[in-house]
Amino acid sequence: MRLSRYFLPVLKEDPAEAAIVSHRYMLRAGMIKQASAGIYSWLPLGFKILRKIENIVHEEQQKAGHMPMLMPTIQSADLWRESGRYEDYGDEMLRIQDRHGRDMLYGPTNEEQITDTFRAHVNSYKDLPLTLYQIQWKFRDERRPRFGVMRGREFFMKDGYNFDLTKEDALHAYNRHLVTYLRTYERLGLQAIPMRADGGPIGGDYTHEFLVLAETGESEVFYDSEVTDIKLGNRDVDFDDKAQCQEILEEFTTRYARTDETHDEAIFADVPEERRRSARGIEVGQIFYFGTKYSESMNATVIDENQKLVPVHMGSHGIGVSRLLGAIIEASHDDKGIIWPEGVTPFHCGIVNLKQGDDEADAACEGIYSALTKAGLEPLYDDRKERAGGKFATMDLIGLPWRITVGPRGLKNGVVELTSRRTGESEEMSPEAAIAKVVEIYANL
Ligand code: ATP
Ligand code: MG
Repeated sequence: MRLSRYFLPVLKEDPAEAAIVSHRYMLRAGMIKQASAGIYSWLPLGFKILRKIENIVHEEQQKAGHMPMLMPTIQSADLWRESGRYEDYGDEMLRIQDRHGRDMLYGPTNEEQITDTFRAHVNSYKDLPLTLYQIQWKFRDERRPRFGVMRGREFFMKDGYNFDLTKEDALHAYNRHLVTYLRTYERLGLQAIPMRADGGPIGGDYTHEFLVLAETGESEVFYDSEVTDIKLGNRDVDFDDKAQCQEILEEFTTRYARTDETHDEAIFADVPEERRRSARGIEVGQIFYFGTKYSESMNATVIDENQKLVPVHMGSHGIGVSRLLGAIIEASHDDKGIIWPEGVTPFHCGIVNLKQGDDEADAACEGIYSALTKAGLEPLYDDRKERAGGKFATMDLIGLPWRITVGPRGLKNGVVELTSRRTGESEEMSPEAAIAKVVEIYANL
């Protein structure tokens, strides 16, 4: 992409309404535009990153055998009356009437709708286990929408639902989700710690929230510092291997890590004092096992091996896809702007031409641009007739992890400069070497 043709409405000034850094940088980098409180348009740069995150979430779910589908955002109130949640959900639910006076709602979550789909089509234990998921917009009429996409009213969420014959199978599905979530967050360059949480309106005894530590987080958390040393990494996981998934769950959840809703000072006191931490965190996901709560109230039953009709065991599992953009920025930025991890960066490498219109510099930039493109990468070439200072400021703000700077003086010596956004370190090398290095970095991801 050439910056001269891209839609990147960068703001020079800090917007007054942004109280935290991610919101400020998302507005300044032209990623989002507020449409009304807690509701945003996603401009090309923000949309590109949203799609990248969405793709990673899809890939990791499908590796575990979970099946993508798509449900409508507008739901019928009748389904929610069946489960009893139409009244319970309260003011966060946006209630609508159609022209015939039928009660509808903009879905805040989809347990009822998926249970209705399940009961319409599945009636034998032979069709289990089954895990379906979607990535779809949700609406919750939050009392205090704030912090940009972190607490929006309309937001993008991955929600997955497992249907199993037994509690044991459903707990395996729970563990599978825990593993896929750990992998997803690591690919996004984040450490998200699973913490014991509270069931809330969805209900259920087994639930973990995934928290990214950040001062601006809305949740108060308490943990044993050893939890921050564990990584899933690239280890092979067989998602059909119950024992392996259970082991990973235990590895990641045995040490003390709880949100304030479940925090217990007496148990926390058993953690050696030097490892006891209290901090703030951003909730980027949550998994639940809730047994037969919805299947009983909504008659989602199957015939078991003994020809007996039994309600299925269910769980639901969510990732805050749009919130993740904010969380990544909170975890990865400096005073000049965002620093995208390589896994989600909107463009792989920036190209800055220090002297647009200089034949040699223009030709070198074009060469680098087409070589990177041919290698399957997406460079962003700043080909505008602007001062170098302004070009650097834009690149730093939008946070591309790598930048190649091309100018007449360097070219006289046969070199360009390759700069890491994260460390700020620059290296001079031939254009070919810079291209090769960038290609290699992404090939190793
Ligand atoms: P919170 O406690 O932050 O209100 P929640 O526990 O009600 O969230 P869940 O029902 O667990 O949310 O939804 C799954 C995920 O969706 C959350 O972990 C979070 O990352 C994201 N999410 C929830 N509410 C919002 C919101 N208003 N704006 C953006 N993301 C949200
Ligand atoms: Mg939650």
